[in-house]
Amino acid sequence: MARTEILGVGFDPVTMDQAQAEMASYALQNASHLVVTANPEMVMRARGDQLLAEILARADLVVADGIGVVWASRMLQKAVPERIPGIELAEGLLCQAAQEGWTVFLLGAAEGVARQAATKLQQRLPGLKIVGTHHGYFQAGPEEDVIIQEIQEKKPHILLVALGVPRAEKWLAAHLGTMKVSVAMGVGGSFNVWAGVDRRAPLWMRNIHLEWLYRLIRQPWRIKRLLVLPVFVLLVLVARFKSGR
Ligand code: UDP
Repeated sequence: MARTEILGVGFDPVTMDQAQAEMASYALQNASHLVVTANPEMVMRARGDQLLAEILARADLVVADGIGVVWASRMLQKAVPERIPGIELAEGLLCQAAQEGWTVFLLGAAEGVARQAATKLQQRLPGLKIVGTHHGYFQAGPEEDVIIQEIQEKKPHILLVALGVPRAEKWLAAHLGTMKVSVAMGVGGSFNVWAGVDRRAPLWMRNIHLEWLYRLIRQPWRIKRLLVLPVFVLLVLVARFKSGR
């Protein structure tokens, strides 16, 4: 299906269920697949980062992470059907992995967090096979080579990476071919949530699309990153005006 373009970034117009089904089909293949959950911040970043823009264009699946992208798609072109929060997409994939016996590797976050996330996830999802974890504060060179080799040896079906945007996407694009993992995706702060180090906004806030505000209150330094959002809105409105809609 044709992608819906928002300020130069193409989004697959899929529902959560369709995205889950697509990822399940990837997990059964030998080839590597990159899944990206992109929000307005990432769209804005890709405008000034050619490499990130190319990675998004080549990714196997790009889904709308957040209401900002859904809104923009409605303003501009064919609307994407719904928002797909990265953490929920990853949790759905892990549920399927537990049922199907697919193996998982968690890479990223501070020392000990991925391990703790693995323990908690395995308590929640009996049967989930997490074959390895590693923190995300490693250097390129020998330290990184050891991690890549470990992933190659353990051959997980699924690799979840919490290295932040755009490091996760760039790291995966650079090494996915070597590691030959069937499904890989960046998951932002999800390990912190699964480990119990951080928590998601209460459901009522998520339901009225204010999860971003909750994160901002807990992590005020995010304000710098959110300053691009008014520009995103403005650019979407300008693009709509130009398209004559
Ligand atoms: N992180 C990491 N290595 C880095 C930078 C970040 O492991 O070099 C981790 C960080 O500890 C956090 C996650 O990546 O667990 C990024 O979370 P954030 O919510 O900031 O994700 P983003 O919104 O950038 O996807």
